[in-house]
Amino acid sequence: MTRLNDPEALFKYALDLMCIAGTDGVFRNVNPAWIDTLGFDEAFLLEAPFMDLVHPEDRDATHLALNKLEHGLKVIDFENRVRHKQGHYIWVQWRAHISEDDHTLFYAIGRDITKAKRKALRTENDIRLLEMAENTAHVGHWHLNTQTGLLKWSNEVYNIYGRKPNTADISLDDFIGAFVGADRAVVWTQVENAIRNGTDIQTDARLLRDDNATCYVSVRAVCEKDDHDKVVGLFGIIQDITVEKQHHESLRSKEELMSMAFRATSDGIWDWDLQTDQVWFSPQWKAQLGYTDEEISNSFESWADLICDEDREKAMDELERHFRGETPRFEMVQRLRHKDGHYIFILSRAEALRNEQGQPIRLVGAHTDITEMKQLEQAKSEFTSIVSHELRTPLTAIHGALGLLSNTMSKDLPPPVKNLVEIANNNSNRLILLVNDILDMEKLQSARMDFNITSVAVEELLSLALKNHQAYASQYNVTLTLAPQVPPSSLYVLADSDRLMQVISNLLSNAIKFSNEGGTVTLTTDCKDGQVVISILDTGRGIPKSLQKKVFDKFIQADSSDQRAKGGTGLGLSIAKALIEKMNGKIALKSIEGKGSTFSVTLPEA
Ligand code: ADP
Repeated sequence: MTRLNDPEALFKYALDLMCIAGTDGVFRNVNPAWIDTLGFDEAFLLEAPFMDLVHPEDRDATHLALNKLEHGLKVIDFENRVRHKQGHYIWVQWRAHISEDDHTLFYAIGRDITKAKRKALRTENDIRLLEMAENTAHVGHWHLNTQTGLLKWSNEVYNIYGRKPNTADISLDDFIGAFVGADRAVVWTQVENAIRNGTDIQTDARLLRDDNATCYVSVRAVCEKDDHDKVVGLFGIIQDITVEKQHHESLRSKEELMSMAFRATSDGIWDWDLQTDQVWFSPQWKAQLGYTDEEISNSFESWADLICDEDREKAMDELERHFRGETPRFEMVQRLRHKDGHYIFILSRAEALRNEQGQPIRLVGAHTDITEMKQLEQAKSEFTSIVSHELRTPLTAIHGALGLLSNTMSKDLPPPVKNLVEIANNNSNRLILLVNDILDMEKLQSARMDFNITSVAVEELLSLALKNHQAYASQYNVTLTLAPQVPPSSLYVLADSDRLMQVISNLLSNAIKFSNEGGTVTLTTDCKDGQVVISILDTGRGIPKSLQKKVFDKFIQADSSDQRAKGGTGLGLSIAKALIEKMNGKIALKSIEGKGSTFSVTLPEA
């Protein structure tokens, strides 16, 4: 063996750090590599205790290692971080041994391993990041060495299998045996084919976890081949797709449910994507109109072509209003042309789906065929009208005769007969009022009432109304006055004068009959922004708050005894409201129970 004859040179030119140090913690000798590696010169190093240069966190471990030398161990290996002159730390791998001649001295050789450490740290971080990613995505990776049969799993594969990550060997049987039923055979076949033919693995399968829960996984793998194209390994992933599967299943069942609902309902469904302008009509939508699915194209034009000309404009207006957000939903009755040529009545309802800015992006709606209902309604209204007409003629005759008996001939009648005639006269009067109201109501509903809108002089109309009710007012000992805010002589409204007179009369007679004895009923007129307001104020019993909204509904009376005590049908106000609205006006009520009521009619100024 060649003897080392120039150890000094070795010491001087070595790239590794070399030093002789005392167990007292001070260097005795350091080689020039220290300057290159740590920036400190010899003079500095020989002065300070070497432990000052060691990273505070590594000092205990360094002490421990050196102690072992002092206590009999010949050679030790350890690592620590040593401070560079510029402040940062260098990782050093040390090998030290105690001097055989002097047990207070030891020799140490150190190697800068900072780069390797960094690389290891990076690898460690990469692995941690990969684990985090796998964990988040529920994807684990696995590797099978097809030659040794060695199978390796990443931590997430253990998680998916419901196991704690460990280092024990995993067999291919173990890996595939966890798949359930027929899925196991599928995975086996794919793995065998991959090993034999180099094909990829790609399948979804059910897996029985160690905690007995079943989950859905997706298994994918590619083959690793050697230079001779022989498969030497499989590199694969396994992903837990249970949530996606469940979501998909629930979506599918929702879709099935929807399509069943579409088939089961007799309503036609339509869907209009406003962004792509694509329209879809359900088969039932088309069947309502007598067409098969193929006979009508799914387009906006199909609908526009089938709707009755008179309803088209209104439908478009209503749609626009709904798009602008003015109506909570689109709703109207429209007539659509059946394949046979006749028109059917469709109640069309729809609601827009809006984006975050509130703009409509989609309109989904339903068509209900109400033709039969309309026909029934019409039959009912015709029947009512015929019956009422048939009743009115004989009733008028009976009432005339009874009136004659009770007024002019009453003195010739014996008192009990006179009394009976009066009762009959009053009741026939009430019946005439009721028949007239029912006829009016029916005409209004079936839009068979004609309106002759002209310019009506308000003063003339109100004076006449007052005059007509004077006798009735005296009967109740009520004073009628006219107290205009704007002189009625200057006021003209656009209305049908007979219908307006009918409304004012109804309001006046109500005001009189519900006034207290000695009360006052006042008529006022006003004009604002092109609208004329006629108000009838009374100081009577008023209307309870709970009834104020309902009072314009049919057959509503505040007091169940009203009909008996005051007469009336409970139809007057609903007819008045319908009449005023037909004349483009409004009717409103303000009332305080016990104090009185004010009914106001607003109509456009002529
Ligand atoms: P009716 O023919 O019974 O008067 P209306 O529709 O004209 O039918 O009125 C409905 C009900 O509203 C009345 O029965 C009464 O209870 C109440 N009502 C109407 N006007 C007044 C009023 N000025 N004061 C108090 N109650 C009123």
